[in-house]
Amino acid sequence: MGSQCKKSVETIAAQAGNHRDANGSVSAPLYFSSNYRHPSLEQAINFDEQKEYTYARLATPTRRVLEETLVELESGQRAFALSSGMAAVQLALSILKTGDELISLDDLYGGDFRYFRYLESHIGVKFKQWDGEKLADLVDLLSPATRVVWLETPSNPTMKKLDLEALSAVVHEYNSSILVMVDNTFYTPIYQQPLTLGADVVVHSATKYLSGHNDLLGGVVVVNDEQLANEYYEYYITTGDTMATFDAWLLLRSLKTLPIRMERHTESALKIKEFLESRSEVTKVLYPGKAGMISFYLSTPELTRQVLDNVKLISFAESLGGAESLITIPLYQTHADVEEAQREKLGITPTLLRLSVGLENPDDLIADLAQSLDKN
Ligand SMILES: *Cc1c(COP(=O)(O)O)cnc(C)c1O
Repeated sequence: MGSQCKKSVETIAAQAGNHRDANGSVSAPLYFSSNYRHPSLEQAINFDEQKEYTYARLATPTRRVLEETLVELESGQRAFALSSGMAAVQLALSILKTGDELISLDDLYGGDFRYFRYLESHIGVKFKQWDGEKLADLVDLLSPATRVVWLETPSNPTMKKLDLEALSAVVHEYNSSILVMVDNTFYTPIYQQPLTLGADVVVHSATKYLSGHNDLLGGVVVVNDEQLANEYYEYYITTGDTMATFDAWLLLRSLKTLPIRMERHTESALKIKEFLESRSEVTKVLYPGKAGMISFYLSTPELTRQVLDNVKLISFAESLGGAESLITIPLYQTHADVEEAQREKLGITPTLLRLSVGLENPDDLIADLAQSLDKN
């Protein structure tokens, strides 16, 4: 980790990777080498995995600088940069064994449920869901077999918000060895640092806000427990789902602007929320108050088709969190893997759209939404 005194997230981000290279380079250099020379047999025998380099699957100088920055941003101890958000989910859950129980919020990124079902059918992990309403209901679900509680807040796409502090306290009171894991993709460490609120593991799809430019695929796991970190490290270097060094460098560069990007995403989203609420065709708007994700319902499926077919500035495309605004229909895209009964319960319907507000001028985005609603 960088320094002793506590820095603000803006400063950590702006100086991501700086002042670490022996040559004094201001921007962190990009190391493509897949392997590293041993200066002596002595060094090879006493190799320090946390500081030195042998082979790129274990660590590269660029990826390590990124991981150290992520540790600082999330107030953790150790971070792992992976090839995708789903690789991060897999690493986080790699501690599960047959018979262990995983409890998750019922509203999550759709791919999570596909992986949970895989763990159920192939590993024999038991899986239960909680609706995020009452803590007492979560406590009722806990059992001696519970190993992980998996959360997203705000949730995706229905924007449920959870009190992570109260929730972590209740879970740990029941059994301090249960791991509370939080996917922090939507709020990022700028708005929420789950480890400081009692969570044990933070996961990101770095493909989204952390990268912010719709140009890389990545995942992140951050923990604040050395023993858990060592367990993850073994799995990480063994399975090799590591982030490519070029992507690590791109992500490091992107992190520098994360705080100002998030500020702008929020400002614009607030304006667009207001616009959507002013339109009679929009029956409901879900916005958690920060960041750039807005879900909204239109009055008819025909109108949904009209909007998706007619937006011009906003791209009808999956993903989120980038400079470019995107609109998706969760039912057919991000949440196609969620079972039908559950989609109905959550309100993932043919009239629900999810907008990722980008960094364009919000007035232009509003004009685009307005023309797509006015069409015909
Ligand atoms: C996209 C996403 C994921 C999956 O990440 P990938 O980088 O696409 O593998 C996980 N969680 C959330 C909240 C996401 O938005």
